Amino acid sequence: MKTAILRLLKEDDSYISGQQLCDRFQVSRTAVWKAVEQLKKEGYMIEAVRNKGYRLVDSPDVMSKAEIESMVRTKWAGRSVIYYDETDSTNIQAKLAGENGSEHGTLVVADRQVAGKGRRGRSWESPKGVCVYMTLLLRPSIAPVKAPMLTLVMALSVAEAVRELTGLKAGIKWPNDIVLNKKKICGILTEMSTEIDYINYVVTGVGINTNQETFSEEIRKRATSLLIEGGRHISRSELVAAVMERYEENYERFMETKDLSGLQEKYNGMLVNCGREVRVLEPKGEYSAFASGINEVGELVVTTPEGEEKHIFAGEVSVRGIYGYV
Ligand code: ATP
Repeated sequence: MKTAILRLLKEDDSYISGQQLCDRFQVSRTAVWKAVEQLKKEGYMIEAVRNKGYRLVDSPDVMSKAEIESMVRTKWAGRSVIYYDETDSTNIQAKLAGENGSEHGTLVVADRQVAGKGRRGRSWESPKGVCVYMTLLLRPSIAPVKAPMLTLVMALSVAEAVRELTGLKAGIKWPNDIVLNKKKICGILTEMSTEIDYINYVVTGVGINTNQETFSEEIRKRATSLLIEGGRHISRSELVAAVMERYEENYERFMETKDLSGLQEKYNGMLVNCGREVRVLEPKGEYSAFASGINEVGELVVTTPEGEEKHIFAGEVSVRGIYGYV
């Protein structure tokens, strides 16, 4: 009910009477009052005026289950939220939720991660109160080999949501980073549980540097945030909701063909590596090549100086710019 009250207060600039809320939810005045008090404790400024009712005056950048659920306007992506003030990693918790039978589209969100993860055991800096850390649980009926493509579906969705919400020209660095001015604002990590021929669940984790002002010495040169680039605070729950909306639409498009053929053009349009020379870092060595975009299964298509066309699969490979990270 707290989520539903919050949603109603957000939709309405004027007062909503206590009686209206009681009738709507079939509960007592005291129950409504208690829910409003809880919302106030979470940081919402709610005015209560005798004979008029309740009005939402200000919503700070709070993250909570009720806040996120009240913002998300999708059919299934992020409709059900598991929220932590602090957790090890949202991917770890989403995998547990997957084991415990949580439904397709469940979203795990945390205000802080103490063991945030990147690819291949790397760590993700996850300070409290300023960024988005979330993992979406999916139960797609696709072959396990196709699951890595979901990382690209998420990358596209985050880039679109950031552009929509901030007007900043976010780009994608293949396969899983979102960048602004050649620096990373977001990392994405997909993990899964499979049998030989089917998927139990897939989790796609996203960390977005949102209102962060500083970074550790180690990553300062390569990392930035939406606040640093755009000069204004972004509501984290609005950002979560925008990503979920874009993702739901893009995922449904993906599922029509079970590959990226319907999204390839949009993805390549935002790909910072497109039409550029890149360094391909493979476990067995490095080489330079000219990148021309992704194909319909999400591999990066490059042409070597000898004229050989190669299709790079993300797994063990990293791609860099010729002079730096992008
Ligand atoms: P690849 O191109 O292979 O994906 P990557 O360095 O971008 O390489 P990821 O696994 O995507 O690797 O991300 C983890 C890396 O990102 C860490 O090793 C660190 O260098 C950097 N990093 C960690 N936390 C943050 C953050 N909050 N913002 C930006 N970069 C970060």
